Amino acid sequence: MTLQKMDVVEVFAAGEKGRGLRTTKEMKAGEVVFAEASFAAVVFDSLCMHVCHSCFRRQANPHRCAQCKFAHYCDRTCQRAAWEEHKQECAAIRQRGKAPSENVRLAARAVWRMQKHKGKIFDTQLTTLDLLEDHLSAMTPEDLKKLKVDVDNFQDYLRSNKRQYSADYVSHIFGVINCNAFTLSDQRGLQAVGVGLFPNLCLVNHDCWPNCTVILNHGSQTALDSALHSHRRIELRALEKIPEGTELTVSYVDFLNLSKDRQKLLKKQYYFDCKCEHCSKGIKDDLMMAVKETDGKKPSAERVKEITDYSVEALAKIEEARMEGDFHKVVKLCRECLEKQEPVLADTHLYLLQVFKVISEVLSYQHSFKEAAEYAGRMVEGYVKLYHPNNAQLGMATMRAGVTHWHAGLIEAAHGLVCKAYAILMVTHGPHHPITKDLEAMRTQTELELRMFKKNEHAYHSMREEALTNKHMTSRLVKSK
Ligand SMILES: [Zn+2]
Ligand SMILES: [Zn+2]
Ligand SMILES: [Zn+2]
Repeated sequence: MTLQKMDVVEVFAAGEKGRGLRTTKEMKAGEVVFAEASFAAVVFDSLCMHVCHSCFRRQANPHRCAQCKFAHYCDRTCQRAAWEEHKQECAAIRQRGKAPSENVRLAARAVWRMQKHKGKIFDTQLTTLDLLEDHLSAMTPEDLKKLKVDVDNFQDYLRSNKRQYSADYVSHIFGVINCNAFTLSDQRGLQAVGVGLFPNLCLVNHDCWPNCTVILNHGSQTALDSALHSHRRIELRALEKIPEGTELTVSYVDFLNLSKDRQKLLKKQYYFDCKCEHCSKGIKDDLMMAVKETDGKKPSAERVKEITDYSVEALAKIEEARMEGDFHKVVKLCRECLEKQEPVLADTHLYLLQVFKVISEVLSYQHSFKEAAEYAGRMVEGYVKLYHPNNAQLGMATMRAGVTHWHAGLIEAAHGLVCKAYAILMVTHGPHHPITKDLEAMRTQTELELRMFKKNEHAYHSMREEALTNKHMTSRLVKSK
């Protein structure tokens, strides 16, 4: 991140939303507004032994820190690179005998970093953790009780630190983490593996229909600044043309919820009432609850209520079976559910889309690609009507649908979907992101096959068999969670 890069944004007073960031020049779709290295980040408690604490990649046999026996790394290179941020943590864990929770580890890493650098670490940092909102006054008694436990654990964890911090100060840090921490996914964006703080990103306010997206991209050969190579880094990318002087926004929640449900989620987690255009006008709520019209006739209100109530129950059962790993049961339940839903709910109804998502994933896992492709295709058709055209979730879903169609031998549709996904990911992830690169390879492959298919169907099918046995490339793309 260079100073020049930060020249394109400025902090401004965004009314009741507090501070915000706006552009000082026009941005194009797919342009990187800014890149930012993490101020502090930690691997989730549940993945501590499986994910490198330095580069956040998943590792089958990671190398363990011999001193604390807690931190794990790909190799000595990653370990050396992480020593600066692990040094004090390592000593504190050894002294305490065990590592505290991820929240406490993150707060401690942030505090140690500030201790060393006195707040601002990068010249381009537009704010400090001290200045960020903590929303403590809006917290429920229950939230405050949880926070108190974290504060106590923090103080115990840092009891031999050269500086001690007041409970008020530590509470502020936890408040900031609570509503500003950003979930980090692995290199391929398929699994959430940790959480981090990015001060400039904290200044970007929410909108349910945002003009930017955040993507984790651990430096690359074309990173904006060579000093940031291999650092955990996010990019704020423009989803569309953004005129000069416009507030930059990202979405903190998935758009595929009714306005009132998104508002509830945002209030609970981030303590504000979303007044964005989509929420205040309820834009697309009608599509998300739309019913099926046959010959100009709609099902009765009672019938619709019956089916939506049924769907809520069925989706809970499906989720339960999925958690148990009983995939045959999942498929059976999904089929039963679809049979009831399809005559009543439109293809953009959220409950129908949720079933499409589960059944296409599970069927694909079971190698029933033809049927999986049909559901994945219908899901993407619904998504296209609901999501922003450059939404990252839409891009990923389109990519998976493309792979499923390819496995099903539906090469024309597969190539079309892969191309669409590629166009979206070029905006949301950029050309250097590993997922985009995988997708590019996939696009070359499907293009080649499509040409062959058009020339000679028989030759195409035999070539496909061969390609399917070499699954290396596609298995990476289809794996979800
Ligand atoms: Zn590593
Ligand atoms: Zn250690
Ligand atoms: Zn909203």
